[in-house]
Order: sequence, then C-alpha cells, then structure tokens
Amino acid sequence: MRARKTTTIHALDAAHVADYAAVLCDLDGCLVAGGLPLPGAEDFVHACASTLSIVSNNSADTGVTLSRHLRSIGLPVPPERIFLAGELAVRTIAAERPGARVAVFAEPPLRQLASGLGLEQPEDRADVVLLARDTQFTLATLERALRLIEQGADLVVTNPDLFHPNAEGRPVPETGALLAAFRACCPDLAPRVFGKPEPFLISEALSASGVSAAHAVFVGDNPATDGAAAALAGLDFLHLAPAGQPLAAGASSQPAGHSHANGARPASLEVTPC
Ligand SMILES: [Mg+2]
Repeated sequence: MRARKTTTIHALDAAHVADYAAVLCDLDGCLVAGGLPLPGAEDFVHACASTLSIVSNNSADTGVTLSRHLRSIGLPVPPERIFLAGELAVRTIAAERPGARVAVFAEPPLRQLASGLGLEQPEDRADVVLLARDTQFTLATLERALRLIEQGADLVVTNPDLFHPNAEGRPVPETGALLAAFRACCPDLAPRVFGKPEPFLISEALSASGVSAAHAVFVGDNPATDGAAAALAGLDFLHLAPAGQPLAAGASSQPAGHSHANGARPASLEVTPC
C-alpha cells in the first residue's frame, strides 16, 4: 500500500479534493453542527456533488431521513451517498442473522428500519442488544439491556463517540457515553462496534462508489476517529481543524491520536456477558 498523506486545513475548500475520484466526508463538525450548515459546507457540497459521500458515525438517522434534513438546509446529498454507523449496524445484523430478536436502543428511524428488515424487537429475550444514540435511555433501560446480555445476547454498538459538537461547539452526549455506562457496570464487555475508527463505513462507501482507496480522500475533523479510519482503509486524510491549531500541510504520518480514542475500544466479535 502506498504511503498515505495527512493534510491539515482550517476551512472546507473543494480545491483541496479536486484530484480525487471519491471524496468521503464526515458530517458533524465538518458539514454541520447542531443540525445547521457550517461555513463553507454549502459551496463544498455543490462543488463536490459528483464525487461526495458522507461517512458518519451518526446513529440517530437513516440515509433517507438524513438526506431529507440536509436538503432542507441547502446540502443536497442523495441517500445512496450517505453511509451511517447506525444504519450499517442494523442492515448488517439483518443480513447476518435474518429474523433475529434484537433489542434496539435507538431513535425511531433505526427502530423502524430494524422492523422493516424483519428483525423482531421483543421485550423479554434477545439475540442481540443494539446500542445506538438513544435520547430516551434511562437507568431502567440500562438495567434491562444488561439483563439481556447476561442472558446471552450479543452487544453491538453503532459508534464509540462520547459526544459530538452542537452549533455552539458544546458537547452533545453520544452513543459512547451510553456505552461507558454499560462498562461502569460490566467492565469486561467487548462489543462489536461499527463506527469509525473502524474502517467498515469507508469500505462500504468505496465499494458503492467503485473507487479504490488510492484515489479517494477522507475529510474529517477528528484525527482519532476519522483519521484513524482513513489510515486503516488506506486513504489520504484531510484534517479539518479548528482555527488556531497549527497547520501540518503535506505532513505524511499516522494521524495524531491513532488510537481508539473517545473511550472507544476496538471492534470485536467476542462478547463477555457480565
Ligand atoms: Mg466529526
């Protein structure tokens, strides 16, 4: 595999990605914050329309629901160009374990997707506990999920992020914060994780676009997740850093924090019931 390149920028500019056949871009902190477009996002999306895919750890939406929202704020990206950790997790479970009993801890779009794909969602028993960003999550929810895992259900987590930024840059708790609560009760849990820094989403996006890693670039604001995933998949990484961070244009190296940061652990197929 050729040496990959990391370049740091402080603003989105289509000129930075003009030489690539596929542009994979993170969502929160790059194109939107708090559901609103960030400066430069609209021009970037329009300029890269033929090559752009969104690759996000979002676990609250499906490609269809997110595309609808993005179009409403001036960022037209079709659903087939959107690759989300939550949707990928549900579709993978449905493909690998058709008709499985899955306790889905998520927002309505993911629960509806699971139902539509034939996954049962019983209250008392489960083959899989799927943890996504669930704004209705409570201590009672946690107790129920842990009981299902103790009874033998596999734990699948959509993404390891502890938070994402709102429009003011303040942290909005994410799926990883819920996973931290699981681990507070059962430290030995080793869930299967789909989102970045794992490279599954990038692989899906490249496969759909028909472009090899050598001709694709990943644009992201988080070296520990976006940069690490790009490195694992063999893509150049364009690090969109907040103003004030030093430029590292042309630097060729592993992204800073090449680790499973944000409290995340590597993906694993093994589960250790507590
Ligand atoms: Mg981000």
